[in-house]
Amino acid sequence: MTKKVDVKVEAARILDALGVARSAWTGGDMASFSPVSGEEIARLKTTQAAEVGKIIDAAHDAFGQWRNVPAPRRGELVRLLGEELRASKADLGRLVSIEAGKIESEGLGEVQEMIDICDFAVGLSRQLYGLTIATERPGHRMMETWHPLGVVGIISAFNFPVAVWSWNAALALVCGNAVVWKPSEKTPLTALACQAILDRALARFGDAPKALSQVLIGDRHVGEAMVDHPRVALVSATGSTRMGREVGPRLAKRFARSILELGGNNAGIVCPSADLDMALRAIAFGAMGTAGQRCTTLRRLFVHESVYDDLVPRLKKAYASVSIGNPLETGALVGPLVDKAAFDGMQKALGAAKAAGGTITGGDRVADAGADTAYYVRPALVEMPVQTGPVLEETFAPILYVMRYGSLDEALEQHNAVSAGLSSSIFTLDMREAERFLSAEGSDCGIANVNIGTSGAEIGGAFGGEKETGGGRESGSDAWKAYMRRATNTVNYSKALPLAQGVSFDIG
Ligand code: NAD
Repeated sequence: MTKKVDVKVEAARILDALGVARSAWTGGDMASFSPVSGEEIARLKTTQAAEVGKIIDAAHDAFGQWRNVPAPRRGELVRLLGEELRASKADLGRLVSIEAGKIESEGLGEVQEMIDICDFAVGLSRQLYGLTIATERPGHRMMETWHPLGVVGIISAFNFPVAVWSWNAALALVCGNAVVWKPSEKTPLTALACQAILDRALARFGDAPKALSQVLIGDRHVGEAMVDHPRVALVSATGSTRMGREVGPRLAKRFARSILELGGNNAGIVCPSADLDMALRAIAFGAMGTAGQRCTTLRRLFVHESVYDDLVPRLKKAYASVSIGNPLETGALVGPLVDKAAFDGMQKALGAAKAAGGTITGGDRVADAGADTAYYVRPALVEMPVQTGPVLEETFAPILYVMRYGSLDEALEQHNAVSAGLSSSIFTLDMREAERFLSAEGSDCGIANVNIGTSGAEIGGAFGGEKETGGGRESGSDAWKAYMRRATNTVNYSKALPLAQGVSFDIG
């Protein structure tokens, strides 16, 4: 039996160490649970609907001042945030493990991702550039300028409780915006911790406007109040496709901007020439890591019939032997599911897969890994005769559906035949196959990889997916443009007033 860690005591220690006021997480109306043991670890005060408007108005005032601060100076705040995160990495990473159930190295990895995006955003603060464009009119100059947008609302999911905020906040702040964050109701403590860390950076920065970055605590109703508020210029919402289906139209109704980062149903293709040792490791991490609770988790695997009987038995062996247990203790590679609903969803999908002809390895609850109220499961590998039923949907749990294929055409068609379009991989040493996978007729996902798994993206690239994944892009590359408004400026320095397209309008 795995040693029980007192997560409540440990969470309290960390919150105290990070300087989060006890009044913020004790005695409130909203309970917060740890998936490590299933027990209640804090009681937070929900933000009331009436307060949301005031908070957003204050953020709007802060935006009015912050937009006039030179961008490199705004970058200094994010640089300080990165420093504070470095100093708090061990504590914040452990709190992520306690609240989201990730193994500690993944909790720490999430904080490292926050540090990385801060570094990226600091550089960006000196590179918010526009184009100069040739004009058809003599004595004119045409150019683009990029301006701060306004209040940026962030909605985040439980499974990346801190990194998603930082992806958005670091860029939004250097772009001159104010930020209001509605974290998942399953992971509010890490949000309070991030706010305390940012408050330290703000104190060192000195003269930033009050209310530049705030947190709303509560469930979807609090999120809806933010989504509907006319002073929120952009909502960057990360979560299920169901959530995006509700949030997207509400924003469209008031012509607000959105970045939607929604569900995935990610697949890999293992070709005849694949390095199977490498593929095995990548598949194991992609499918079982984070207990299958990453948006980029590998959920479908197409294996060429010539290597199927070599690879799949080895995979099954890895599934049978992977260590499952308390994520706060060394040795565990798979922690718990977030809650009972996640466990029930997994069992339902496995039942449907079985009914559709699937052969299941694993998937059972692991009784001795945690308390009765926690949901630890052995990841499931399901051999399917065809891609049907639950294989077409994202179930947010560690289920890998494995199917045989004969030709790459067939594999690509099946690969793209789902409604989500987030991440994808091909394992091949054949350059033609790899390039075809990356081409216009290949993977239809926002992320397409060769010889690495579907999960574990770096912050330097733009992150996001197509189709029902929502089409948004966050993080690196030119994702910053979504957090600013673009103005096209034409300046006439001649003594004439020529009209474009040769139009004449002579008022005599
Ligand atoms: P969820 O959709 O249940 O909740 C996500 C967030 O949305 C929460 O903060 C929730 O309170 C809020 N919310 C829900 N309905 C809302 C509404 N109508 N209006 C405003 N806010 C609302 O998702 P979850 O269970 O926390 O996370 C898992 C899901 O998130 C999976 O589908 C996963 O693939 C997805 N996800 C996607 C990405 C990505 O970048 N594409 C990253 C992480 C997670």
